[in-house]
Amino acid sequence: MTDAVLQTNGISKSFGALRASRDISIDLKPGEIHAIIGPNGAGKSTLIGQICGTLRPDAGAVRLLGRDVTHQPTRARARAGLGRTFQISSLAMEDTVLQNVLLGALGASGRPWRFFSNVTRDTSLRETAEEALARVGLLDQARMRTAELSHGQRRQLEVAVALTQKPKALVMDEPMAGMGSEGSKLLTGFLDQLRHEAPILLVEHDMDAVFSLADRISVLVYGEVIATGTVDEIRSNAAVKEAYLGD
Ligand code: ADP
Ligand code: MG
Repeated sequence: MTDAVLQTNGISKSFGALRASRDISIDLKPGEIHAIIGPNGAGKSTLIGQICGTLRPDAGAVRLLGRDVTHQPTRARARAGLGRTFQISSLAMEDTVLQNVLLGALGASGRPWRFFSNVTRDTSLRETAEEALARVGLLDQARMRTAELSHGQRRQLEVAVALTQKPKALVMDEPMAGMGSEGSKLLTGFLDQLRHEAPILLVEHDMDAVFSLADRISVLVYGEVIATGTVDEIRSNAAVKEAYLGD
């Protein structure tokens, strides 16, 4: 556990009577992809919210690079190296692709938002932004309005925004959702390389992607981790089959 980049120690979170996270302890090690799977409503996004700081756990702790960040706001965690992509897109649809990435780069730089009007002229931010776009294969679309992108391209753009933070760990909430098989294949290949730069906690319903990418899988059911293991261990786990995978 000591070499974990990211770690939760017994975090719990309730919404009224609903126990959305129950004593969850998971970790993310250098170079790995740790997938979180489970049925709708199992508490996957709630777990991610607590890791990223949009939700405060009722109990337990979140550690990032060995530091307790449980009481730190989202921004501080992002600056400390936690990158994320959202289940529901956070992109500005009327802005261009490049502007969205520049916004991310500006946020990561820690400079105040009033700099944004000058941001397209800032060479170092531009370089960061263009490099991130090139890496996800969207440089040719830099000047398009974000609304004109295909669904798959928007998900790629979210990854580019996360990359501008030079993350040391990445948390992704269903990045393949709504993508065609071509798009998810491309993204799968990209995440496979990206893991060496920043390990990835990957919430995903696309089981082909999960089974081909994950070093470990944790299965969440009713707010509780019912199993953690390798792909083979999870696929042959009787409780997991019953609760989620079917047969
Ligand atoms: P998943 O991402 O696995 O589909 P969520 O984490 O979104 O699941 O939700 C887990 C449970 O918590 C669901 O029953 C959901 O309705 C509930 N929930 C999530 N967020 C809130 C909230 N802000 N207030 C009340 N209930 C919530
Ligand atoms: Mg969710």
